[in-house]
Amino acid sequence: MFRQTKTALQKLRCVRFNGQQQQTWRLKSISAREKALQYQPEQKIHGFTVREVVAVPDLCLTAVKLTHDKTGAQYLHAARDDSDNLFSVQFRTTPMDSTGVPHILEHTVLCGSEKYPCRDPFFKMLNRSLSTFMNAFTASDFTMYPFSTQNGKDFQNLLSVYLDAVFFPCLREQDFWQEGWRLENENPTDPSSSLVFKGVVFNEMKGVFSDNERLYAQHLQNKLYPDHTYAVVSGGEPLAIPDLTWEQLKQFHATHYHPSNARFFTYGDLPLESHLQQIQEEALCKFERINPSTAVPPQPHWDSPREAHVTCSPDALAPDQSKQNTLCVSYLLGDITDTFEGFTLSLLSSLMVSGPNSPFYKALIEPKIGSDFSSVVGYDGSTKEASFSIGLQGMAEEDTERVKHIISQTIEDVIKNGFEEERIEALLHRIEIQMKHQSTNFGLSLASHVASSWNHNGDPVELLNISDSVSKFRQALKENPCFLQEKVKSFFKDNTHRLTLKMSPDEAYLKKQAEAEEKKLQEKIQLLTDADKKEIYEKGLELLAAQSQVQDASSLPALQVSDIEPTIPITPVQMGTAGGVPVQYCEQPTNGLVYFRAMCNLNTLPEDLRVYVPLFCSVVTKMGCGALDYRQQAQQMELRTGGMSVSSQVVPDSTQIDTFEQGVLLFSSCLERNLPHMFQLWSDIFNSPHFDDEERLRVLVMMSAQELANGISYSGHMYAVTRASRHLTPAGGLQETLGGMEQVKFMKRMAETPDLVHVIRTLPRIKKHLLNPDNMRCAINATPQKMSDSAAELETFMKDVAENKKERKPVRTSIIKKPLDPLEVSGPSRSLITEPDFQPCQMKTFFQMPFPVNFVSECIRTVPFCHQDFASLCILARMMTAKFLHGEIREKGGAYGGGAKMGGSGVFSFYSYRDPNSVQTLSAFHKGVEWAKSGQFSQQDVDEAKLSVFSAVDSPVAPSDKGMGRFLSGITDEMKQSHREKLFAVDQKSLVDVAERYLSAGQRTCGVAILGPENDTIKKDPSWILK
Ligand SMILES: [Zn+2]
Repeated sequence: MFRQTKTALQKLRCVRFNGQQQQTWRLKSISAREKALQYQPEQKIHGFTVREVVAVPDLCLTAVKLTHDKTGAQYLHAARDDSDNLFSVQFRTTPMDSTGVPHILEHTVLCGSEKYPCRDPFFKMLNRSLSTFMNAFTASDFTMYPFSTQNGKDFQNLLSVYLDAVFFPCLREQDFWQEGWRLENENPTDPSSSLVFKGVVFNEMKGVFSDNERLYAQHLQNKLYPDHTYAVVSGGEPLAIPDLTWEQLKQFHATHYHPSNARFFTYGDLPLESHLQQIQEEALCKFERINPSTAVPPQPHWDSPREAHVTCSPDALAPDQSKQNTLCVSYLLGDITDTFEGFTLSLLSSLMVSGPNSPFYKALIEPKIGSDFSSVVGYDGSTKEASFSIGLQGMAEEDTERVKHIISQTIEDVIKNGFEEERIEALLHRIEIQMKHQSTNFGLSLASHVASSWNHNGDPVELLNISDSVSKFRQALKENPCFLQEKVKSFFKDNTHRLTLKMSPDEAYLKKQAEAEEKKLQEKIQLLTDADKKEIYEKGLELLAAQSQVQDASSLPALQVSDIEPTIPITPVQMGTAGGVPVQYCEQPTNGLVYFRAMCNLNTLPEDLRVYVPLFCSVVTKMGCGALDYRQQAQQMELRTGGMSVSSQVVPDSTQIDTFEQGVLLFSSCLERNLPHMFQLWSDIFNSPHFDDEERLRVLVMMSAQELANGISYSGHMYAVTRASRHLTPAGGLQETLGGMEQVKFMKRMAETPDLVHVIRTLPRIKKHLLNPDNMRCAINATPQKMSDSAAELETFMKDVAENKKERKPVRTSIIKKPLDPLEVSGPSRSLITEPDFQPCQMKTFFQMPFPVNFVSECIRTVPFCHQDFASLCILARMMTAKFLHGEIREKGGAYGGGAKMGGSGVFSFYSYRDPNSVQTLSAFHKGVEWAKSGQFSQQDVDEAKLSVFSAVDSPVAPSDKGMGRFLSGITDEMKQSHREKLFAVDQKSLVDVAERYLSAGQRTCGVAILGPENDTIKKDPSWILK
């Protein structure tokens, strides 16, 4: 994977425990966090020396810093009473060319190692482990390999595979061809077919840069730091990738993947000693210290600002075709290893750009010069010296000078006027919430939070002590009220190291790209003798043979199905009512936060208004309410809550495939002390939302449309799946309307409409139907101590909004009621839409898109969650993905990813991601079905698929999200347990059986969709609908 980190404010989140785990902990004499405090500086443990032991109460952890004596490897352990343990190792990888060598290396080390020589141990471990996370990233200046798991034995297994992969990889020539690049006959079995470039990273990077936002971000970094490693593309410039040789790859490994250039991080409640021992014995003891010379020198400062211009492909889905330029100004800031400076500048950046009260939002977004901020905006601390960027996308060429002027004028204004105290408080409040909010994968957030600064020898422990930075910040402001303004003056106004980068569409962009690739290809081909060509053909066949070979994975460690917990822990909830509305209360260790949700159904909403629901959801909390205009509302939300949002929901029924619930979900959180404020804000939204400000609405519509259009090249497979499922179930049609390509096109139309008056008239109509307590149910997750307060506040809220309660008739008559509590059949219920006479229809849709890769999907109507065959279909999807489709679609086909998935909606979907192939991938799906029907898989394959499915089923759930399956979908713990037992019971016979009955040709009811570039095969085939 190739990652560009662009986050305005790094999110730090805490994980804690559900009641049950806490109990287990009480039985132990001492917690992991307390135990770690007993380490002493200078203490020697398994070849390491302890350097520092620091309690970090904010994050409920103890940090232990160590160094490895022989090699100088650095180590940070965060001891915390969290069973989701994480390991990560990162290397400073600072390439000096754009061949993508660190990225290709990241892929190839995962293709087999000394102790685990089988091909692709990384992907195989996905099926032999209960990992909660496994991945690898290439950033601009480091490469990181993290995994997490809740099982101690699994941790050792994965650690062993990871250590061997990064320190002792095979790096075979064949791995380099497969993952990096190669010349190969287009059809490898036909020596007369033309030679083309292939390779996983080659295709991945073509996909990455088909996304204009990513392209822009890459250019900006390259040009702002033109003198060292940031001037090149660490992920690989597609046309530079074919300049890389296998020898260079091995050399890069030898010099960069060395303990002397490594930083290890572990997190969780497992003992540090055993990690150190295993790392020492399996890897570090075999190395001597080297001087890796991978440091990044400071970027020499420019004497005067610079400007640059780049081009991109036009975006057919952009809201306004005449406005497709991006312009932004980027400033070089200070070294990120200065923790306090980094904290101050990222805070300052949020003050300047985030939310409707920020000066740049007012100056750039509200005049509607562009559709949204540029893709790169705000503080970026992912490079050794940070940067700040500000600008617009979706703007007209002729506004260039105007935008530049506004940017410098706004900076002047900020220096003159400073910031309101309340906004600073709101931001510090947000940091407090982020520290208290407990999310899953906390270890990974920590690893990412410290990665960049630590990579350049910053102090990771200092970065964890966030409240130190907060108090230092408060102190600095107190001593000097102009503290922030002075920063703005020196870092922005007086900073001559700044770049103005413009990007504009070029009609011929894709053609030029294709020509450049063709030229590169011909250059390579011209150098080939006949013997070379013969060799290429033979190597192509060898690779194909290797990819088709049955793999012996027996060298790899594995958990057994018997290592999986047979039962799930029960999440107790209490049912109550408030003002006649049913409420689910769930007591959780939420660390002082209260989480509120309300589900309101759409059943009375006229059908023609449904397409407006996502728009309604995205604006209803952003246009002002009660006595507050939208700025004041945003300020209050920031000051009093952890955010308030509304989203549309299509919830499939667990027992009947043609039944579903349609609604919107309200969600918000707050610190306990702010409960009355949070509900007051919701009351105002229910009672008197402001919808009449057309200017404000236009800004919001433009931003949503832009966001949707930008998301397609990233999540094209989701759009393909949604489209392919459209005619398979009644819920599928609604899903497409609310979240599919239909919605993207609708929003594009809205953004182009000169007059939004009809929308302004529509929104209050929708509100009457949706924000109606008659159609509502609520859920609260809070600590036991705060539950009764929360209930009382909710009661007050329901009283306040009682006037909105109105009994209305559903637009469809086919409504069924399901009790919220299955044990209380006459109690409160949910209303679901049912269409027992629904006729699925088979349809193939092609969307021509302005990017060079495809997203392919085929979806098949099967059975809902509670059906006897659902569990077999889940295991089947996983097994087909791991044992067949991955090989066909990724290894042979060159797509970035692909597989099969069983969805809760009862639809079984095949998909591919960033795929050079289109219709050929559909045949791969069909071959997968034949493979499954043939039953040519072993018990081991079935067990591996079970492990993989269970690692998803058992992935940790944050306290804020406990009980949500029951609240939203009516899926109780008993139903989950029954599903679990069915999963355990799946065997080879049931898999062959469901493959035959649901997936085979003649049996299946399916839909197909492809998003991709112009496609002659499809154009000629009348069975396709072209969009
Ligand atoms: Zn990658």
